[in-house]
Amino acid sequence: MASNPELALMTKLLKIEGIKVKNYSLVKGLGIFLYIESQAKILACPHCGNKTDKLHQNREYTVRDLPFGEESVYLKVNRRRMKCPQCQHLFSEEFEWVKKKRTYTERLKTKIISEVLESDIKNVAKRNGVSEQEIETMLKELGEKLCQEKPQNVRKLGIDEIVLVKGQKNYCAVLVDLEKRILVEILQKRTEAEVSQHLESWGEEVLWQITEVSIDLWKPYKKVVEKLMPTAEIVADRFHVMKQVNDELDEARRKAKREATKLKTKFPREKVLSGITNSKYVINEK
Ligand SMILES: [Zn+2]
Repeated sequence: MASNPELALMTKLLKIEGIKVKNYSLVKGLGIFLYIESQAKILACPHCGNKTDKLHQNREYTVRDLPFGEESVYLKVNRRRMKCPQCQHLFSEEFEWVKKKRTYTERLKTKIISEVLESDIKNVAKRNGVSEQEIETMLKELGEKLCQEKPQNVRKLGIDEIVLVKGQKNYCAVLVDLEKRILVEILQKRTEAEVSQHLESWGEEVLWQITEVSIDLWKPYKKVVEKLMPTAEIVADRFHVMKQVNDELDEARRKAKREATKLKTKFPREKVLSGITNSKYVINEK
């Protein structure tokens, strides 16, 4: 069994709110497995609101998380089934950081989508060990979430594309707020009708605040912009959008590096790694 200071460090590095690492193992050729548990003992019943700690069943499963160095990281999660003593309903524990029935964490999803913006689904899927189908689900999920909120105070808008399958003319359109550097929409298609319809749904109060639109020279976008945002300046720079996204990622990488350096001085890597390799807890994964 791993020592407490090691587990405390693992919990700190994992950085998932309300989650504690209770054990770990390094499986050669596979990666690091972290056995985690939720700190919440009492859960609220989604049917009647009653708070209960009455366990019905433990349900362990594995989800994939962000890699650590060159190792893949898998989390062994217990999503508890509870039984509400008040209304007798069964319900499953919910986590903000991994959705039900998903085999990847929300933050892995974010990382993968950022990579897809620079590359294409096939390569990103290969690099991250997930399927192309899973990435399409991620894009769809994020697209649906973004769709529910109307963007606010967009002044510089970027319209770009994600190649779904390289070599095939299969694209998603992405709309980016270039000032705030955030994704505002992911559309399932990049057709003039699709882009036009989504922009129109933002309403004039949003569209008329946009002073600049960065697009590539693919004509239908230009026509849409001219129709819906007649006063906005069109910047025909197809690399502009991706440059913003890349800058943002670079900054995030620099920040992570700075933090890693800080941590390294506090916990030398050799020591941390030797702790992992020396772990006696080995499991058989099939
Ligand atoms: Zn209940």
